[in-house]
Amino acid sequence: MSPRLSHLQNVLTNIRNQSLFAKLSKCSFEQEKVEYLGHIITGEGVTADPAKIDSMLNWPAPSDIKSFRRLLGLIGKATDLLQELAINLTALPKSTYEHGFIRYKGRIYVGQEVGLRMQLLECMHDSPLGGHSGNNGTYKRFKASFSWPGMKKAVEEFVEECEVCKKNRTKNCKYPGVLQSLLILIKPGNRSSWIILRVFPKITGFNTILVLVDRFTKYGHFIPVIS
Ligand SMILES: [Zn+2]
Repeated sequence: MSPRLSHLQNVLTNIRNQSLFAKLSKCSFEQEKVEYLGHIITGEGVTADPAKIDSMLNWPAPSDIKSFRRLLGLIGKATDLLQELAINLTALPKSTYEHGFIRYKGRIYVGQEVGLRMQLLECMHDSPLGGHSGNNGTYKRFKASFSWPGMKKAVEEFVEECEVCKKNRTKNCKYPGVLQSLLILIKPGNRSSWIILRVFPKITGFNTILVLVDRFTKYGHFIPVIS
Protein backbone atom coordinates (compact mmCIF):
# COMPACT_ATOMS: atom_id res chain seq x y z
CA MET A 1 0.00 0.00 0.00
CA SER A 2 1.28 3.49 -0.88
CA PRO A 3 2.05 5.80 2.06
CA ARG A 4 -0.71 8.14 0.86
CA LEU A 5 -3.33 5.41 1.06
CA SER A 6 -2.15 4.29 4.50
CA HIS A 7 -2.39 7.95 5.70
CA LEU A 8 -5.91 8.11 4.32
CA GLN A 9 -6.82 4.86 6.03
CA ASN A 10 -5.41 6.25 9.29
CA VAL A 11 -7.49 9.41 9.03
CA LEU A 12 -10.69 7.54 8.21
CA THR A 13 -10.13 5.00 11.02
CA ASN A 14 -9.61 7.83 13.51
CA ILE A 15 -12.77 9.54 12.30
CA ARG A 16 -14.74 6.31 12.77
CA ASN A 17 -13.20 5.70 16.22
CA GLN A 18 -14.33 9.18 17.33
CA SER A 19 -17.85 8.50 15.95
CA LEU A 20 -17.40 11.30 13.42
CA PHE A 21 -18.64 11.19 9.83
CA ALA A 22 -17.38 12.63 6.55
CA LYS A 23 -19.88 13.63 3.93
CA LEU A 24 -19.08 11.62 0.83
CA SER A 25 -20.35 14.29 -1.60
CA LYS A 26 -17.79 16.72 -0.15
CA CYS A 27 -14.93 14.28 -0.34
CA SER A 28 -12.80 13.46 -3.33
CA PHE A 29 -9.89 11.10 -3.45
CA GLU A 30 -6.99 10.54 -5.79
CA GLN A 31 -7.36 13.96 -7.49
CA GLU A 32 -4.65 15.65 -9.51
CA LYS A 33 -6.01 19.08 -8.57
CA VAL A 34 -8.62 20.43 -6.21
CA GLU A 35 -10.26 23.82 -5.90
CA TYR A 36 -10.09 25.19 -2.37
CA LEU A 37 -11.16 28.68 -1.19
CA GLY A 38 -10.72 30.22 -4.61
CA HIS A 39 -7.39 28.53 -5.21
CA ILE A 40 -6.32 25.57 -7.27
CA ILE A 41 -4.13 23.15 -5.38
CA THR A 42 -2.03 20.76 -7.44
CA GLY A 43 1.07 18.70 -6.89
CA GLU A 44 3.01 21.72 -8.15
CA GLY A 45 1.65 24.08 -5.52
CA VAL A 46 -1.13 26.60 -4.95
CA THR A 47 -2.28 28.92 -7.71
CA ALA A 48 -5.10 31.41 -8.01
CA ASP A 49 -8.27 30.21 -9.70
CA PRO A 50 -8.00 31.51 -13.31
CA ALA A 51 -11.73 32.34 -13.33
CA LYS A 52 -11.20 34.63 -10.32
CA ILE A 53 -8.26 36.40 -11.98
CA ASP A 54 -10.42 36.88 -15.05
CA SER A 55 -13.17 38.62 -13.13
CA MET A 56 -10.54 40.82 -11.43
CA LEU A 57 -9.10 41.87 -14.77
CA ASN A 58 -12.52 42.62 -16.17
CA TRP A 59 -13.74 44.48 -13.10
CA PRO A 60 -15.62 47.58 -14.36
CA ALA A 61 -13.78 50.87 -13.79
CA PRO A 62 -15.34 52.75 -10.88
CA SER A 63 -17.24 55.82 -12.02
CA ASP A 64 -18.37 57.22 -8.70
CA ILE A 65 -17.37 57.29 -5.05
CA LYS A 66 -19.61 54.32 -4.23
CA SER A 67 -18.08 51.97 -6.78
CA PHE A 68 -14.64 53.30 -5.89
CA ARG A 69 -15.24 52.32 -2.26
CA ARG A 70 -16.40 48.92 -3.43
CA LEU A 71 -13.13 48.54 -5.34
CA LEU A 72 -11.18 49.54 -2.24
CA GLY A 73 -13.08 46.86 -0.34
CA LEU A 74 -12.01 44.35 -2.96
CA ILE A 75 -8.40 45.42 -2.64
CA GLY A 76 -8.79 44.88 1.09
CA LYS A 77 -10.01 41.33 0.55
CA ALA A 78 -7.18 40.68 -1.87
CA THR A 79 -4.61 41.87 0.64
CA ASP A 80 -6.27 39.66 3.27
CA LEU A 81 -5.66 36.70 1.00
CA LEU A 82 -2.07 37.76 0.52
CA GLN A 83 -1.76 37.84 4.29
CA GLU A 84 -3.19 34.32 4.45
CA LEU A 85 -0.60 33.21 1.97
CA ALA A 86 2.02 34.68 4.29
CA ILE A 87 3.33 37.48 2.08
CA ASN A 88 6.52 38.70 3.63
CA LEU A 89 5.96 42.32 4.60
CA THR A 90 9.58 42.78 5.59
CA ALA A 91 10.36 42.70 1.87
CA LEU A 92 8.78 46.17 1.83
CA PRO A 93 10.44 48.33 4.45
CA LYS A 94 8.27 50.96 6.15
CA SER A 95 5.21 48.86 5.35
CA THR A 96 2.48 47.92 7.78
CA TYR A 97 -0.63 45.82 7.54
CA GLU A 98 -3.79 47.39 8.82
CA HIS A 99 -7.55 47.27 8.16
CA GLY A 100 -7.05 44.84 5.30
CA PHE A 101 -4.49 46.96 3.44
CA ILE A 102 -0.78 46.76 3.08
CA ARG A 103 0.31 50.29 3.75
CA TYR A 104 3.58 51.77 2.63
CA LYS A 105 4.45 54.99 4.50
CA GLY A 106 0.78 55.17 5.44
CA ARG A 107 -0.47 54.87 1.85
CA ILE A 108 -2.25 51.88 0.37
CA TYR A 109 0.28 49.72 -1.40
CA VAL A 110 -0.93 48.59 -4.81
CA GLY A 111 0.58 45.32 -5.96
CA GLN A 112 1.78 44.40 -9.41
CA GLU A 113 -1.70 43.76 -10.81
CA VAL A 114 -1.64 45.89 -13.96
CA GLY A 115 -5.43 45.80 -14.35
CA LEU A 116 -5.96 47.17 -10.86
CA ARG A 117 -3.41 49.94 -11.36
CA MET A 118 -5.14 50.83 -14.61
CA GLN A 119 -8.50 51.01 -12.89
CA LEU A 120 -7.13 53.27 -10.19
CA LEU A 121 -5.57 55.52 -12.84
CA GLU A 122 -8.89 55.71 -14.66
CA CYS A 123 -10.73 56.44 -11.43
CA MET A 124 -8.31 59.14 -10.29
CA HIS A 125 -8.11 60.83 -13.68
CA ASP A 126 -11.09 60.04 -15.96
CA SER A 127 -13.94 59.84 -13.47
CA PRO A 128 -15.89 62.86 -12.21
CA LEU A 129 -13.72 62.51 -9.11
CA GLY A 130 -10.58 62.91 -11.24
CA GLY A 131 -11.97 65.48 -13.64
CA HIS A 132 -9.08 65.09 -16.08
CA SER A 133 -6.76 67.19 -13.98
CA GLY A 134 -3.25 67.45 -15.33
CA ASN A 135 -0.27 65.35 -14.40
CA ASN A 136 0.47 67.25 -11.18
CA GLY A 137 -3.10 67.24 -9.94
CA THR A 138 -3.62 63.57 -10.72
CA TYR A 139 -0.32 62.56 -9.14
CA LYS A 140 -1.02 64.64 -6.05
CA ARG A 141 -4.34 62.83 -5.62
CA PHE A 142 -2.60 59.50 -6.07
CA LYS A 143 0.19 60.29 -3.68
CA ALA A 144 -2.28 61.09 -0.93
CA SER A 145 -3.66 57.54 -0.91
CA PHE A 146 -1.64 55.08 -2.95
CA SER A 147 1.83 53.88 -3.56
CA TRP A 148 3.66 51.53 -5.87
CA PRO A 149 7.12 51.56 -7.35
CA GLY A 150 7.13 53.71 -10.49
CA MET A 151 3.72 55.23 -9.73
CA LYS A 152 4.81 58.75 -10.69
CA LYS A 153 5.89 57.60 -14.12
CA ALA A 154 2.72 55.57 -14.59
CA VAL A 155 0.57 58.62 -13.78
CA GLU A 156 2.65 60.75 -16.12
CA GLU A 157 2.28 58.30 -18.99
CA PHE A 158 -1.41 57.81 -18.37
CA VAL A 159 -2.18 61.54 -18.37
CA GLU A 160 0.04 62.05 -21.41
CA GLU A 161 -1.88 59.37 -23.32
CA CYS A 162 -5.38 60.41 -22.20
CA GLU A 163 -7.45 61.01 -25.34
CA VAL A 164 -9.77 63.54 -23.68
CA CYS A 165 -6.85 65.58 -22.37
CA LYS A 166 -5.08 65.40 -25.73
CA LYS A 167 -8.07 67.00 -27.44
CA ASN A 168 -8.32 69.79 -24.90
CA ARG A 169 -4.66 70.55 -24.50
CA THR A 170 -4.01 74.18 -25.37
CA LYS A 171 -0.62 75.62 -26.14
CA ASN A 172 0.12 78.41 -23.71
CA CYS A 173 2.87 79.93 -25.80
CA LYS A 174 2.72 82.08 -28.93
CA TYR A 175 3.04 80.28 -32.23
CA PRO A 176 6.80 80.12 -32.79
CA GLY A 177 8.06 82.47 -35.48
CA VAL A 178 11.13 84.44 -36.43
CA LEU A 179 12.60 86.48 -33.61
CA GLN A 180 12.05 90.22 -34.00
CA SER A 181 14.98 92.43 -33.10
CA LEU A 182 14.46 95.26 -30.66
CA LEU A 183 14.43 98.83 -31.88
CA ILE A 184 17.98 100.16 -31.73
CA LEU A 185 18.21 103.72 -30.42
CA ILE A 186 20.99 105.89 -31.76
CA LYS A 187 20.50 109.17 -29.89
CA PRO A 188 18.94 110.38 -26.66
CA GLY A 189 15.61 112.10 -26.39
CA ASN A 190 13.46 110.47 -29.06
CA ARG A 191 11.89 107.70 -26.98
CA SER A 192 10.95 107.54 -23.31
CA SER A 193 9.15 105.11 -21.12
CA TRP A 194 6.94 106.59 -18.50
CA ILE A 195 5.19 105.72 -15.30
CA ILE A 196 2.82 107.66 -13.05
CA LEU A 197 3.35 107.42 -9.28
CA ARG A 198 0.20 108.31 -7.34
CA VAL A 199 -0.90 108.18 -3.69
CA PHE A 200 1.32 110.96 -2.44
CA PRO A 201 -0.01 113.53 0.02
CA LYS A 202 -0.68 116.89 -1.59
CA ILE A 203 2.41 119.08 -1.34
CA THR A 204 2.41 122.58 -2.85
CA GLY A 205 -0.63 121.64 -4.90
CA PHE A 206 0.76 118.38 -6.42
CA ASN A 207 0.05 114.77 -5.41
CA THR A 208 1.46 112.70 -8.28
CA ILE A 209 4.84 112.23 -9.94
CA LEU A 210 5.13 111.53 -13.64
CA VAL A 211 8.38 109.69 -14.28
CA LEU A 212 9.82 109.81 -17.81
CA VAL A 213 12.88 107.68 -18.51
CA ASP A 214 14.87 108.22 -21.67
CA ARG A 215 15.41 104.78 -23.17
CA PHE A 216 18.78 105.65 -24.64
CA THR A 217 20.47 107.30 -21.67
CA LYS A 218 18.24 105.89 -18.89
CA TYR A 219 18.02 109.40 -17.47
CA GLY A 220 14.88 110.00 -15.48
CA HIS A 221 12.74 113.12 -15.37
CA PHE A 222 10.45 113.49 -12.37
CA ILE A 223 7.64 115.89 -13.03
CA PRO A 224 5.11 116.88 -10.31
CA VAL A 225 1.53 116.77 -11.59
CA ILE A 226 -2.03 116.66 -10.20
CA SER A 227 -3.91 113.43 -10.71
ZN1 LIG B 1 -7.61 63.18 -19.20
